[in-house]
Order: sequence, then C-alpha cells, then structure tokens
Amino acid sequence: MKEKLSLIIPCYNEEEVLPLLYKELCSVAEKMADSEFEFLFVDDGSKDKTLGIIKEYSLTDERVKYVSFSRNFGKEAAMYAGFCEADGDYVAVMDADLQDPPSLLPEMLRIIKEDGYDSVATRRVTREGEPKIRSLFARMFYKIINRISDADIVDGARDFRLMKKDMVEAIVNMCEYNRFSKGIFGWIGFKTYWLPFQNVERAAGETKWSFWKLFKYSLEGIINFSQTPLNIASWIGIFFTVMSFVGVAVVFIRRLFFDDPVQGWASLVCFICFIGGIQLFCMGVIGQYLAKTYMEVKKRPIYVVRETNKRKEEKPNETNQ
Ligand code: UDP
Ligand code: MG
Repeated sequence: MKEKLSLIIPCYNEEEVLPLLYKELCSVAEKMADSEFEFLFVDDGSKDKTLGIIKEYSLTDERVKYVSFSRNFGKEAAMYAGFCEADGDYVAVMDADLQDPPSLLPEMLRIIKEDGYDSVATRRVTREGEPKIRSLFARMFYKIINRISDADIVDGARDFRLMKKDMVEAIVNMCEYNRFSKGIFGWIGFKTYWLPFQNVERAAGETKWSFWKLFKYSLEGIINFSQTPLNIASWIGIFFTVMSFVGVAVVFIRRLFFDDPVQGWASLVCFICFIGGIQLFCMGVIGQYLAKTYMEVKKRPIYVVRETNKRKEEKPNETNQ
C-alpha cells in the first residue's frame, strides 16, 4: 500500500496565493508518485474568498480536504486542528504563502526514510527581505528562550516540518490552550534533522503578523516554556532585601560613630519610586503567569469547526478535547 502524506496548510485570507500554492502542490505530488497525498487546508476564519477557492478545488480533486473555523483562532489553533484531523503516515505543516517551499518535501521524506529520523524541520539561513529591526528582535528572542527554557529552539526555525505519525500523536496529546508550536516541537523530543534553506519571500498577498503581534507571540513563547521570569522576580526581591540591610547598617554606623545623620529626602523619594516600580513589574510578571493559568483551567476548546469535508466517524466531537 502507498504511504500517505498529509500536508497541513493554515490559511487566513490567502485568496491571492492559493492558486499558486495549489499548482505547486500538484506538481510536487506528481513528482512523488510513490506516495498518496492529502492537502488539508485549515481555513482560519478567512474573510475573503479563501474557503470558496478551497471548496472549488475539493470538487474536482479528492486529495483536497478542508476544515473551516467559525472565526479567526490564530495560526497555532489552525495547526493544532490540522494535526488532529490529518491521517497520513507522514504529516507536514506549511504556510500558504510558499515561504515554505513544497519542493523540499521529496528531500525531507528521503531523510526520514533513509537516515532514520522522526522528523525533518527547516531552518532559514538568511533573513533577507525582512526588516532589520525584526531580524534583530528575532535573534534576541532565540538567544533568550534557549537560555531560559528547556525547549530547544533553533534560530531561524520555521514551523515547516515533516513528521512521522507518532510525533503527530505526541503533539495532539499536548492539548494546552496557550500554544507555542516551536516550543512544543522541541519539548516532545524525537530525532529531528534540521534542513537549512534560503529565505523566500511571500509569493503574493500580505503578512498577517505585525511587529507588535510578533512581540506578543514571543512573550507567549517565553512564558509558556520557562519559569525564569518568576525566578528573576524572586532574585530581585532578595537583592533589594539584602541592600536594605546594608543601608540600615551604613546609617547606624554613620550616626553612632561619626555623628553624621544621613541627609537627602530627594534621593529617598527617588529610591521609593524605583522600588515601587520594580514591585509593580514583578507583580505584572506573576499576573502574566496567573492569566495563562486562568485560561488553561477553563479548558476551552482550542478551535471551533464550522464546516469541513473530513469524514466524521472517528471524531464525533467537532471541537477537540
Ligand atoms: N495564518 C493563520 N491565521 C492567522 C495568521 C496567519 O492561519 O491568524 C497563516 C497564514 O495564512 C499563513 C501562515 O499562517 O499560511 C503564516 O502567515 P504569514 O505568512 O502571514 O506570516 P509570516 O510568514 O509573515 O511570518
Ligand atoms: Mg509568510
């Protein structure tokens, strides 16, 4: 029997790029005639003709499957839905905008099959075509997160990867609400081969990620995979406690032995403000963790399906969990 490859493609307002992508997918599938294919489009509540175009393809091509959300849930939710619904022996996630070249798939599959890896992930070696400030922040983020968390994340790592079924199962079992896939991939382990490639610019349409959205996403990654910010808050507390003991000792010694009461209420006010600021900052850090915990304990579904052509017998529950 032919082995099956499921390609998960999260799409949010991608009407411009879909025809290009579909053409590319068909040509890759033709080259890999030994494998059966499933193109699993996850429509993340698009407001344009994305879903219409996908449905049109599905009429003539039975490899085309779709899951359409009731609203925009974000790329993380879209990828998770894809993992839950995909039934291939190998599963790949890729962006719709051809920034993750489907032409790498034959090589990725070969590496898994011949070299004994569980997954092949991709890493871009250049960040050409990306704003400088964005690259700088991205580099800083990877340095920080690798230092403070046990999720091993490579600089330039993309979400584009091909995995064996077992690995997908492990991902589906991580049903946390606050999702950061790059961390999840690293956390579950498995043998991963990193395939470098040159950065490709978006084929058509516009990026869905503003700088601010990316910044928030990076904080999410740090909070989801590390408790270091909480530890830092504790260390700051300890530092200032020790400092205050030293300060008290200095004041006493000056008063008792040198008859020199310390003056300067202005510096005192500045110091109180400073400490107040640090305290609020630390409370904010704790608040962030608390907010995440709050969302986790609610156990809301990660996504809600409005329409799909995936068969339902195995998964009667439309929402996951
Ligand atoms: N995407 C999504 N939901 C969102 C935002 C993006 O499914 O809320 C998809 C989008 O359609 C694309 C992929 O995620 O397939 C990556 O998005 P984009 O190319 O805009 O990000 P960039 O490559 O600029 O980081
Ligand atoms: Mg892109």
